[in-house]
Amino acid sequence: MLLVVHAIAGATVGASIANPLISAPIAFATHFVLDSFPHWNYPVPKRRTLPAFWRAFGPDMVLSVVVGIALILWFRTSWANVLWGIGWACVPDFLTLYRKKKPWSIWFKGYFELHNRVQWEVAKGPGLAVQSFLVLCMGIILLMAKGD
Ligand SMILES: [Zn+2]
Repeated sequence: MLLVVHAIAGATVGASIANPLISAPIAFATHFVLDSFPHWNYPVPKRRTLPAFWRAFGPDMVLSVVVGIALILWFRTSWANVLWGIGWACVPDFLTLYRKKKPWSIWFKGYFELHNRVQWEVAKGPGLAVQSFLVLCMGIILLMAKGD
């Protein structure tokens, strides 16, 4: 799942649930729920170099930051809750950067296996269509959370 979709999900949770002790685990859980929907992912580079990493993940990361800032500015009175939700919804993908590094690969083995197991990757067209539909649904929830 694209990171920007996870960011929007986290913002939706953060904007809808004021209690950070409740919104954090729910935002974290949305990551696994979204990853279990059919989705398209850009190919992960074989070489772990900064330029290869940037080419693969850069556009999605930049888009996630831009959308995240826009949502934080939009929710001026609850921006911290929105940022909190975005962080918790996105952190599972950042944790996977450590899946081959010890001791994380041992300590979080079950976590990494779960994150891999829930993935349902499909072709680009249908995968992006499903992600667009999910963003539309979350946009409606965000509009309701905004209220005014
Ligand atoms: Zn993920």
